[in-house]
Amino acid sequence: MCQFCHQHGEGKKWYLKAENYAEDLLSDMRRSKYIQHFFRDPQRLKDRIDLLDTLNRMPAFVQAVIKPAITNRMKKMHHGQVLPIEDVEEIFGFVSSVIRLPCICRQASLGTEERYCYGLSMVPAEQSKLKEIVEAIGADYLTGPDVKGLETVPKEEALEQFKELEKKSLIHSVWTFVTPFIGGICNCDRDCMAMKATAMKSLPVMFRAEYAAEVEPERCSGCRNCVRACQFGAISFSLARKKVAIDSLRCYGCGVCRVHCLKDAITLTDRRAIPAASSTYRPLK
Ligand code: SF4
Ligand code: SF4
Repeated sequence: MCQFCHQHGEGKKWYLKAENYAEDLLSDMRRSKYIQHFFRDPQRLKDRIDLLDTLNRMPAFVQAVIKPAITNRMKKMHHGQVLPIEDVEEIFGFVSSVIRLPCICRQASLGTEERYCYGLSMVPAEQSKLKEIVEAIGADYLTGPDVKGLETVPKEEALEQFKELEKKSLIHSVWTFVTPFIGGICNCDRDCMAMKATAMKSLPVMFRAEYAAEVEPERCSGCRNCVRACQFGAISFSLARKKVAIDSLRCYGCGVCRVHCLKDAITLTDRRAIPAASSTYRPLK
């Protein structure tokens, strides 16, 4: 069980606790200002990620001080964790509304509008402060001529959209905006700033799911669909065995490989039940 589950979930998975999505948390001025600041300027987000290249060129002892400080600040302000689709479905089961909005990360990294982010609310969308806060930002990419505005999506439809995005190898991740308030779920790949920081620049800001994937070798045909789908480089292929193996230390437990396996050879297991997976975080190189 992760540290956030202990701190913000009272022994349950923290992101399954309805109070963490509550509207009254948005009445906190500091939190609504943080959200507005966060969404206002995609370029600022990109600049911060680019600065990590400078940090990675600094001496190891400097990195050893600065990186944990950044990670700890992110845990307090904007913390993300990978979720498999079954946990997304459980969340959709208790929230009242889902609002789809353009992804600030894709705006920053690609300059395009990609509607991969979903704001969640415990009240109907028209009463949601989150919608009000985001709409009040006035950032070009949220309100400009190419954007139709924020959309309310029926929960069942949103879940189907998530399943389709998973088939395209996007991973689901849940995010706080001043922890423990949870603002929404994103669908990420390496165009996302959190993925870039965590998987490409050795600065963990997005954390592993409560699960890890395991492969049943007898079922594996060696097609390698899963290898191509994994965003984290966690699956290797043995030519001699014509089978794949999953590195538990690299696996984030997203479940994307599972959906690409036509032989049903991959399952997600509680991370705590796999000794290698339950060990400490290891950033990817
Ligand atoms: S997708 Fe399934 S069958 Fe294909 S290599 Fe991966 S585990 Fe084996
Ligand atoms: S091996 Fe792990 S990280 Fe890679 S796709 Fe499968 S569940 Fe996700």
